[in-house]
Amino acid sequence: MRKPLFRFALLARRTMMAASLGLSLLVLFIWVRSFYLSEAYRGQTRNVFGAYTSWSVRSGEGIAGLVVDRFDFSDNPEAAINFPQRADAPSRYGSLGYSRRRSGPPVAQRYPPQETLIGSLGFQFFHRNDDLQGSDHTFYVLAIPFWALFFMTIAYPLSRYVGGVVKRQREERIALGLCPTCGTPMNENQSRCPGCDKPMALARQA
Ligand SMILES: [Zn+2]
Repeated sequence: MRKPLFRFALLARRTMMAASLGLSLLVLFIWVRSFYLSEAYRGQTRNVFGAYTSWSVRSGEGIAGLVVDRFDFSDNPEAAINFPQRADAPSRYGSLGYSRRRSGPPVAQRYPPQETLIGSLGFQFFHRNDDLQGSDHTFYVLAIPFWALFFMTIAYPLSRYVGGVVKRQREERIALGLCPTCGTPMNENQSRCPGCDKPMALARQA
């Protein structure tokens, strides 16, 4: 019963490691690229309840952004008929699908970042709710700097690597008869390390 579980855990760890490394490489690539090119992928959806949403995922100047524009007509179906979204949305937000241009801030350009510490680091959250052409209109802007995305994706592989280095160092020190914590030479009859005063009974058994 333990063996398949162990195998599954190993497979899960390897998959997680490969996925994290792949993602962090992808983030690194888009991060560097964002200083040369501003990219956007725009789309729109409309649901049966009369809500119309246009969204875009963007990158530029080291920042990733998400912009969502939602018009809800569920309280006012008549306005939906007259809503000029077909002509309106593409002209306001650019054509749908993928587009790119020479570098420039993708989000902060039109919505200046808040004058806070978080804002100066490149994070941004902006939210507005109003009535627009008879709809309940909600507008969101979310910006996250690529360095934060990179650290999020590299955190797991990095912690595994550091953990492995620490573990190997400990094993090596024990094999050489040194204190696994600080590396001070030990002899058999000492119960505490003369360097760091850690009790040694457990370490010698290992
Ligand atoms: Zn020690």
